[in-house]
Amino acid sequence: MTSAYLQLDSLAVHAGREDLTELGVHALPLDLSSTNPLPNIEAGGLSYEAMASGGTPTADGGAVYARLWNPTVARFESALAQMEHAQAAVAFSSGMAAMTAAILTTMKETGRRHVLAVRPLYGGTDHLLASGLLGAEVSYCSAPDVAAAIRPDTAMIVLETPANPTLELVDIRAVVEAAQGVPVLVDNTFATPVLQNPVDLGAAMVLHSATKYLGGHGDVIAGVIACGHEQAAALRRVRAITGGLLHPLGAYLLHRGLATLPVRIRAQQANAQRIAAWLTTHPSVARVHFPGIEGDTQGLLGRQLRGTGAMISIDLRGGFDQAVHVTSTVSLFTHAVSLGGVDSLIQHPASLTHRPVAPDARPAAGLVRLSIGLEDAEDLMTDLDRALATHRPIQAPAGVSHV
Ligand SMILES: *Cc1c(COP(=O)(O)O)cnc(C)c1O
Repeated sequence: MTSAYLQLDSLAVHAGREDLTELGVHALPLDLSSTNPLPNIEAGGLSYEAMASGGTPTADGGAVYARLWNPTVARFESALAQMEHAQAAVAFSSGMAAMTAAILTTMKETGRRHVLAVRPLYGGTDHLLASGLLGAEVSYCSAPDVAAAIRPDTAMIVLETPANPTLELVDIRAVVEAAQGVPVLVDNTFATPVLQNPVDLGAAMVLHSATKYLGGHGDVIAGVIACGHEQAAALRRVRAITGGLLHPLGAYLLHRGLATLPVRIRAQQANAQRIAAWLTTHPSVARVHFPGIEGDTQGLLGRQLRGTGAMISIDLRGGFDQAVHVTSTVSLFTHAVSLGGVDSLIQHPASLTHRPVAPDARPAAGLVRLSIGLEDAEDLMTDLDRALATHRPIQAPAGVSHV
Protein backbone atom coordinates (compact mmCIF):
# COMPACT_ATOMS: atom_id res chain seq x y z
CA MET A 1 0.00 0.00 0.00
CA THR A 2 1.26 3.49 -0.76
CA SER A 3 0.50 6.32 1.60
CA ALA A 4 1.04 9.11 -0.95
CA TYR A 5 -2.07 11.33 -1.33
CA LEU A 6 -3.68 10.12 1.90
CA GLN A 7 -5.30 12.62 4.27
CA LEU A 8 -3.80 13.24 7.70
CA ASP A 9 -6.11 10.86 9.60
CA SER A 10 -5.20 8.01 7.25
CA LEU A 11 -1.49 8.86 7.35
CA ALA A 12 -1.60 8.86 11.16
CA VAL A 13 -2.74 5.22 11.09
CA HIS A 14 -0.83 3.94 8.04
CA ALA A 15 2.31 5.99 7.38
CA GLY A 16 5.54 4.13 8.05
CA ARG A 17 3.67 0.82 7.91
CA GLU A 18 3.57 0.47 4.12
CA ASP A 19 5.53 -2.81 4.06
CA LEU A 20 3.95 -4.60 7.03
CA THR A 21 1.62 -6.79 4.96
CA GLU A 22 4.55 -7.83 2.79
CA LEU A 23 6.51 -8.67 5.95
CA GLY A 24 3.56 -10.73 7.21
CA VAL A 25 3.14 -8.73 10.43
CA HIS A 26 0.40 -6.43 11.67
CA ALA A 27 2.03 -4.54 14.56
CA LEU A 28 5.14 -2.37 14.18
CA PRO A 29 8.34 -4.44 14.32
CA LEU A 30 10.59 -3.41 17.20
CA ASP A 31 14.33 -4.00 16.64
CA LEU A 32 16.35 -3.47 19.81
CA SER A 33 19.72 -4.56 18.38
CA SER A 34 22.63 -2.36 19.43
CA THR A 35 24.86 -3.97 16.80
CA ASN A 36 24.21 -5.85 13.56
CA PRO A 37 25.96 -8.87 12.04
CA LEU A 38 28.30 -7.81 9.24
CA PRO A 39 28.12 -9.66 5.90
CA ASN A 40 31.83 -9.01 5.28
CA ILE A 41 34.39 -6.29 5.97
CA GLU A 42 34.04 -4.60 2.61
CA ALA A 43 30.21 -4.29 2.54
CA GLY A 44 30.02 -3.41 6.24
CA GLY A 45 32.67 -0.73 5.85
CA LEU A 46 30.94 0.86 2.88
CA SER A 47 27.62 0.93 4.73
CA TYR A 48 29.34 2.48 7.76
CA GLU A 49 30.86 5.11 5.51
CA ALA A 50 27.47 5.91 3.93
CA MET A 51 25.74 6.35 7.29
CA ALA A 52 28.54 8.27 8.98
CA SER A 53 28.25 10.82 6.21
CA GLY A 54 24.50 11.18 6.76
CA GLY A 55 23.16 8.58 4.31
CA THR A 56 21.18 5.38 4.78
CA PRO A 57 22.56 1.82 5.08
CA THR A 58 23.59 0.19 1.82
CA ALA A 59 21.46 -2.73 0.60
CA ASP A 60 24.10 -5.36 1.31
CA GLY A 61 26.04 -3.76 4.17
CA GLY A 62 23.37 -3.59 6.87
CA ALA A 63 22.87 -1.13 9.73
CA VAL A 64 26.26 -1.96 11.38
CA TYR A 65 25.63 -0.19 14.71
CA ALA A 66 22.51 1.37 16.22
CA ARG A 67 24.09 4.80 16.72
CA LEU A 68 24.15 4.97 12.92
CA TRP A 69 20.77 3.47 12.05
CA ASN A 70 17.78 1.69 13.52
CA PRO A 71 14.83 0.47 11.41
CA THR A 72 12.20 1.09 14.12
CA VAL A 73 13.37 4.71 14.48
CA ALA A 74 13.45 5.08 10.67
CA ARG A 75 9.80 3.95 10.47
CA PHE A 76 8.69 6.57 12.94
CA GLU A 77 10.71 9.19 11.06
CA SER A 78 9.07 8.24 7.78
CA ALA A 79 5.59 8.52 9.32
CA LEU A 80 6.25 11.91 10.93
CA ALA A 81 7.84 13.28 7.74
CA GLN A 82 4.72 12.36 5.75
CA MET A 83 2.42 13.96 8.32
CA GLU A 84 4.54 17.15 8.27
CA HIS A 85 4.63 17.29 4.41
CA ALA A 86 8.43 17.05 4.59
CA GLN A 87 10.86 14.93 2.58
CA ALA A 88 12.44 13.40 5.66
CA ALA A 89 12.65 13.47 9.44
CA VAL A 90 15.39 12.74 11.97
CA ALA A 91 14.59 11.67 15.54
CA PHE A 92 16.62 12.43 18.66
CA SER A 93 16.74 11.48 22.32
CA SER A 94 14.88 14.66 23.36
CA GLY A 95 13.54 17.90 21.97
CA MET A 96 16.65 19.65 23.27
CA ALA A 97 18.96 17.12 21.58
CA ALA A 98 17.08 17.86 18.35
CA MET A 99 17.44 21.62 18.85
CA THR A 100 21.16 21.19 19.60
CA ALA A 101 21.66 19.17 16.40
CA ALA A 102 19.70 21.72 14.35
CA ILE A 103 21.86 24.60 15.58
CA LEU A 104 25.17 22.71 15.19
CA THR A 105 24.19 21.49 11.72
CA THR A 106 23.05 24.86 10.45
CA MET A 107 26.16 26.66 11.74
CA LYS A 108 28.35 24.01 10.10
CA GLU A 109 26.46 24.02 6.78
CA THR A 110 26.27 27.80 6.43
CA GLY A 111 29.64 28.63 7.98
CA ARG A 112 27.83 31.31 10.03
CA ARG A 113 27.46 31.67 13.78
CA HIS A 114 24.59 34.08 14.41
CA VAL A 115 21.24 32.65 15.54
CA LEU A 116 18.23 34.95 15.59
CA ALA A 117 15.69 33.82 18.18
CA VAL A 118 12.10 35.09 18.11
CA ARG A 119 10.83 35.32 21.68
CA PRO A 120 8.88 33.97 23.48
CA LEU A 121 10.43 30.51 23.31
CA TYR A 122 10.30 27.42 25.49
CA GLY A 123 12.58 28.02 28.51
CA GLY A 124 14.94 25.17 27.62
CA THR A 125 15.46 26.51 24.09
CA ASP A 126 16.04 30.00 25.44
CA HIS A 127 18.50 28.54 27.96
CA LEU A 128 20.40 26.51 25.34
CA LEU A 129 20.76 29.56 23.11
CA ALA A 130 21.75 31.90 25.94
CA SER A 131 24.24 29.42 27.43
CA GLY A 132 26.81 29.93 24.68
CA LEU A 133 27.54 26.18 24.85
CA LEU A 134 27.22 25.67 21.10
CA GLY A 135 29.40 28.60 20.07
CA ALA A 136 26.46 30.45 18.54
CA GLU A 137 26.10 34.18 18.85
CA VAL A 138 22.46 34.72 19.74
CA SER A 139 20.25 37.76 19.51
CA TYR A 140 16.58 37.99 20.35
CA CYS A 141 13.82 39.87 18.59
CA SER A 142 10.04 39.85 18.20
CA ALA A 143 8.42 38.59 15.00
CA PRO A 144 7.82 41.97 13.29
CA ASP A 145 11.50 42.91 13.80
CA VAL A 146 13.03 39.89 12.04
CA ALA A 147 13.92 41.72 8.80
CA ALA A 148 15.76 44.44 10.73
CA ALA A 149 17.54 41.97 13.03
CA ILE A 150 18.99 39.70 10.31
CA ARG A 151 22.74 40.07 9.79
CA PRO A 152 25.05 38.92 7.00
CA ASP A 153 26.30 36.18 9.36
CA THR A 154 22.84 34.92 10.42
CA ALA A 155 22.80 31.12 10.18
CA MET A 156 19.18 30.50 11.17
CA ILE A 157 16.03 31.89 12.72
CA VAL A 158 14.26 30.03 15.52
CA LEU A 159 10.60 30.59 16.32
CA GLU A 160 7.76 28.90 18.12
CA THR A 161 4.04 29.21 17.38
CA PRO A 162 1.82 28.94 19.35
CA ALA A 163 4.50 30.03 21.81
CA ASN A 164 5.14 28.45 25.18
CA PRO A 165 3.58 29.61 27.53
CA THR A 166 1.80 32.73 26.22
CA LEU A 167 0.12 31.02 23.23
CA GLU A 168 1.11 34.01 21.09
CA LEU A 169 0.92 33.25 17.37
CA VAL A 170 3.69 34.14 14.94
CA ASP A 171 3.05 34.53 11.20
CA ILE A 172 5.39 31.85 9.82
CA ARG A 173 5.10 32.95 6.20
CA ALA A 174 5.86 36.57 7.10
CA VAL A 175 9.01 35.52 9.00
CA VAL A 176 10.11 33.27 6.12
CA GLU A 177 9.70 36.19 3.70
CA ALA A 178 11.60 38.54 6.02
CA ALA A 179 14.34 35.88 6.38
CA GLN A 180 15.44 36.35 2.74
CA GLY A 181 16.65 32.78 2.36
CA VAL A 182 18.04 32.30 5.88
CA PRO A 183 16.65 28.94 7.07
CA VAL A 184 13.75 29.21 9.54
CA LEU A 185 13.21 26.56 12.20
CA VAL A 186 9.66 26.37 13.58
CA ASP A 187 9.03 24.60 16.88
CA ASN A 188 5.66 22.96 16.12
CA THR A 189 5.34 21.17 19.48
CA PHE A 190 2.12 22.94 20.55
CA ALA A 191 0.32 22.73 17.20
CA THR A 192 1.39 19.27 15.95
CA PRO A 193 0.93 18.38 12.26
CA VAL A 194 -2.78 18.03 12.98
CA LEU A 195 -3.15 21.81 13.29
CA GLN A 196 -0.21 23.32 11.40
CA ASN A 197 2.35 22.35 8.71
CA PRO A 198 5.17 24.93 8.72
CA VAL A 199 6.88 23.28 5.70
CA ASP A 200 3.95 24.46 3.55
CA LEU A 201 4.69 28.01 4.71
CA GLY A 202 8.38 27.85 3.82
CA ALA A 203 9.99 26.66 7.07
CA ALA A 204 13.26 24.78 6.46
CA MET A 205 13.00 22.71 9.65
CA VAL A 206 10.03 21.71 11.83
CA LEU A 207 10.98 20.66 15.33
CA HIS A 208 8.89 18.73 17.86
CA SER A 209 9.43 17.87 21.43
CA ALA A 210 7.87 14.47 20.69
CA THR A 211 7.71 14.07 24.48
CA LYS A 212 4.52 16.13 24.36
CA TYR A 213 1.58 15.56 21.96
CA LEU A 214 3.25 13.10 19.57
CA GLY A 215 3.92 10.65 22.41
CA GLY A 216 0.79 11.80 24.19
CA HIS A 217 0.97 9.38 27.12
CA GLY A 218 3.72 10.85 29.28
CA ASP A 219 6.08 7.89 28.89
CA VAL A 220 8.64 8.93 26.24
CA ILE A 221 11.25 11.70 26.02
CA ALA A 222 12.10 12.39 22.38
CA GLY A 223 12.59 15.03 19.72
CA VAL A 224 12.25 15.03 15.95
CA ILE A 225 12.98 17.39 13.08
CA ALA A 226 11.10 17.24 9.77
CA CYS A 227 13.00 18.83 6.87
CA GLY A 228 14.40 18.33 3.35
CA HIS A 229 16.66 15.43 2.31
CA GLU A 230 19.86 17.45 2.42
CA GLN A 231 19.18 18.88 5.85
CA ALA A 232 18.21 15.42 7.10
CA ALA A 233 21.53 13.96 5.95
CA ALA A 234 23.40 16.70 7.81
CA LEU A 235 21.30 16.09 10.94
CA ARG A 236 21.86 12.32 10.78
CA ARG A 237 25.59 12.96 10.50
CA VAL A 238 25.54 15.12 13.64
CA ARG A 239 23.40 12.50 15.39
CA ALA A 240 25.80 9.70 14.45
CA ILE A 241 28.80 11.70 15.65
CA THR A 242 27.34 13.19 18.85
CA GLY A 243 25.10 10.25 19.75
CA GLY A 244 21.85 12.01 20.67
CA LEU A 245 19.80 9.18 19.20
CA LEU A 246 16.31 8.01 20.05
CA HIS A 247 15.99 4.57 21.64
CA PRO A 248 13.96 2.21 19.40
CA LEU A 249 11.44 1.51 22.18
CA GLY A 250 10.74 5.26 22.31
CA ALA A 251 10.32 5.32 18.53
CA TYR A 252 7.93 2.36 18.73
CA LEU A 253 5.79 4.10 21.36
CA LEU A 254 5.80 7.37 19.38
CA HIS A 255 4.81 5.64 16.16
CA ARG A 256 2.01 3.81 18.00
CA GLY A 257 0.91 7.16 19.49
CA LEU A 258 0.74 8.84 16.05
CA ALA A 259 -2.25 6.67 15.15
CA THR A 260 -4.44 8.42 17.74
CA LEU A 261 -2.84 11.88 17.45
CA PRO A 262 -5.64 13.45 15.34
CA VAL A 263 -8.46 12.17 17.57
CA ARG A 264 -6.57 13.08 20.74
CA ILE A 265 -5.91 16.61 19.50
CA ARG A 266 -9.53 17.15 18.48
CA ALA A 267 -10.95 15.80 21.73
CA GLN A 268 -8.44 17.66 23.95
CA GLN A 269 -9.01 20.84 21.94
CA ALA A 270 -12.81 20.58 22.35
CA ASN A 271 -12.30 20.30 26.12
CA ALA A 272 -9.87 23.22 26.11
CA GLN A 273 -12.26 25.46 24.16
CA ARG A 274 -15.02 24.92 26.73
CA ILE A 275 -12.66 25.44 29.64
CA ALA A 276 -11.03 28.56 28.14
CA ALA A 277 -14.44 30.17 27.52
CA TRP A 278 -15.50 29.38 31.09
CA LEU A 279 -12.24 30.77 32.49
CA THR A 280 -12.87 34.15 30.81
CA THR A 281 -15.92 34.50 33.09
CA HIS A 282 -14.14 33.36 36.28
CA PRO A 283 -13.70 36.07 38.93
CA SER A 284 -10.21 34.78 39.93
CA VAL A 285 -8.89 35.00 36.36
CA ALA A 286 -7.58 38.32 35.04
CA ARG A 287 -6.76 37.12 31.54
CA VAL A 288 -6.97 33.96 29.44
CA HIS A 289 -4.21 33.26 26.91
CA PHE A 290 -5.73 31.02 24.27
CA PRO A 291 -5.78 31.28 20.46
CA GLY A 292 -8.97 33.09 19.47
CA ILE A 293 -9.25 34.75 22.89
CA GLU A 294 -5.84 36.43 23.23
CA GLY A 295 -2.66 36.57 21.21
CA ASP A 296 -4.01 36.37 17.66
CA THR A 297 -4.14 39.93 16.45
CA GLN A 298 -3.19 38.88 12.91
CA GLY A 299 -6.07 36.51 12.16
CA LEU A 300 -3.78 33.47 12.03
CA LEU A 301 -6.28 31.14 13.69
CA GLY A 302 -7.97 29.24 10.87
CA ARG A 303 -5.52 30.56 8.26
CA GLN A 304 -2.19 29.24 9.59
CA LEU A 305 -3.30 27.31 12.66
CA ARG A 306 -6.25 25.03 11.88
CA GLY A 307 -7.52 24.85 15.48
CA THR A 308 -6.90 26.30 18.90
CA GLY A 309 -5.01 23.36 20.34
CA ALA A 310 -5.43 22.36 23.98
CA MET A 311 -2.99 24.58 25.89
CA ILE A 312 -4.33 27.44 28.03
CA SER A 313 -2.46 29.95 30.16
CA ILE A 314 -4.21 32.17 32.71
CA ASP A 315 -3.18 35.27 34.64
CA LEU A 316 -4.46 34.91 38.19
CA ARG A 317 -5.84 37.97 39.96
CA GLY A 318 -4.13 36.77 43.14
CA GLY A 319 -0.72 36.68 41.40
CA PHE A 320 2.07 34.39 42.58
CA ASP A 321 0.44 33.52 45.92
CA GLN A 322 -2.64 32.28 44.14
CA ALA A 323 -0.50 30.28 41.69
CA VAL A 324 1.09 28.51 44.69
CA HIS A 325 -2.36 27.78 46.09
CA VAL A 326 -4.02 26.64 42.86
CA THR A 327 -1.20 24.31 41.80
CA SER A 328 -1.18 22.62 45.20
CA THR A 329 -4.98 22.41 45.54
CA VAL A 330 -6.03 20.79 42.24
CA SER A 331 -6.59 17.06 42.39
CA LEU A 332 -7.78 15.89 38.97
CA PHE A 333 -5.13 18.06 37.30
CA THR A 334 -1.61 16.88 38.12
CA HIS A 335 0.82 19.58 39.22
CA ALA A 336 3.67 18.76 36.83
CA VAL A 337 5.67 20.21 33.95
CA SER A 338 5.42 18.78 30.42
CA LEU A 339 2.24 18.85 28.37
CA GLY A 340 0.24 17.29 25.58
CA GLY A 341 -0.66 14.00 27.25
CA VAL A 342 -4.04 12.33 27.72
CA ASP A 343 -4.22 13.62 31.31
CA SER A 344 -4.43 17.28 32.36
CA LEU A 345 -1.42 19.06 33.88
CA ILE A 346 -0.92 22.44 35.54
CA GLN A 347 2.35 24.26 36.21
CA HIS A 348 3.87 27.68 36.96
CA PRO A 349 6.22 28.57 34.05
CA ALA A 350 8.14 31.40 35.78
CA SER A 351 9.27 28.96 38.51
CA LEU A 352 9.69 25.82 36.41
CA THR A 353 9.78 25.52 32.61
CA HIS A 354 10.86 29.13 32.05
CA ARG A 355 13.03 29.50 35.14
CA PRO A 356 16.29 29.89 33.12
CA VAL A 357 14.86 32.70 30.96
CA ALA A 358 16.26 36.22 31.54
CA PRO A 359 14.04 38.10 34.05
CA ASP A 360 12.85 40.69 31.52
CA ALA A 361 11.58 37.93 29.18
CA ARG A 362 10.25 35.56 31.86
CA PRO A 363 6.48 34.82 32.07
CA ALA A 364 4.47 36.79 34.63
CA ALA A 365 4.54 35.66 38.27
CA GLY A 366 0.76 35.16 38.29
CA LEU A 367 0.61 33.06 35.12
CA VAL A 368 -0.16 29.34 35.28
CA ARG A 369 -0.24 27.03 32.28
CA LEU A 370 -2.80 24.29 31.76
CA SER A 371 -2.40 21.31 29.44
CA ILE A 372 -5.91 20.00 28.89
CA GLY A 373 -6.32 16.24 28.57
CA LEU A 374 -9.09 13.80 27.74
CA GLU A 375 -10.97 13.84 31.05
CA ASP A 376 -14.56 15.04 31.21
CA ALA A 377 -14.54 18.85 30.79
CA GLU A 378 -17.09 19.33 33.62
CA ASP A 379 -14.87 17.37 36.01
CA LEU A 380 -11.86 19.50 35.02
CA MET A 381 -13.82 22.73 35.56
CA THR A 382 -15.09 21.53 38.94
CA ASP A 383 -11.50 20.76 39.98
CA LEU A 384 -10.22 24.15 38.78
CA ASP A 385 -13.16 26.04 40.28
CA ARG A 386 -12.50 24.52 43.70
CA ALA A 387 -8.81 25.43 43.49
CA LEU A 388 -9.52 28.95 42.19
CA ALA A 389 -12.34 29.71 44.62
CA THR A 390 -10.68 28.82 47.92
CA HIS A 391 -7.73 31.14 47.50
CA ARG A 392 -6.07 32.38 50.68
CA PRO A 393 -2.98 34.59 50.40
CA ILE A 394 0.15 32.70 51.43
CA GLN A 395 2.91 34.51 53.24
CA ALA A 396 6.27 34.12 51.50
CA PRO A 397 8.95 32.81 53.89
CA ALA A 398 11.31 35.60 54.97
CA GLY A 399 14.16 36.15 52.57
CA VAL A 400 12.58 34.34 49.63
CA SER A 401 11.97 36.57 46.64
CA HIS A 402 9.36 35.29 44.28
CA VAL A 403 9.97 35.35 40.57
C1 LIG B 1 9.32 20.52 26.05
C2 LIG B 1 9.61 21.41 24.92
C3 LIG B 1 10.86 21.38 24.27
C4 LIG B 1 12.00 20.50 24.75
O1 LIG B 1 11.73 19.15 24.56
P1 LIG B 1 12.31 17.97 25.48
O2 LIG B 1 11.74 16.76 24.85
O3 LIG B 1 11.85 18.23 26.88
O4 LIG B 1 13.79 18.03 25.40
C5 LIG B 1 11.04 22.20 23.17
N1 LIG B 1 10.07 23.02 22.72
C6 LIG B 1 8.87 23.08 23.33
C7 LIG B 1 7.82 24.00 22.80
C8 LIG B 1 8.59 22.29 24.44
O5 LIG B 1 7.39 22.37 25.04
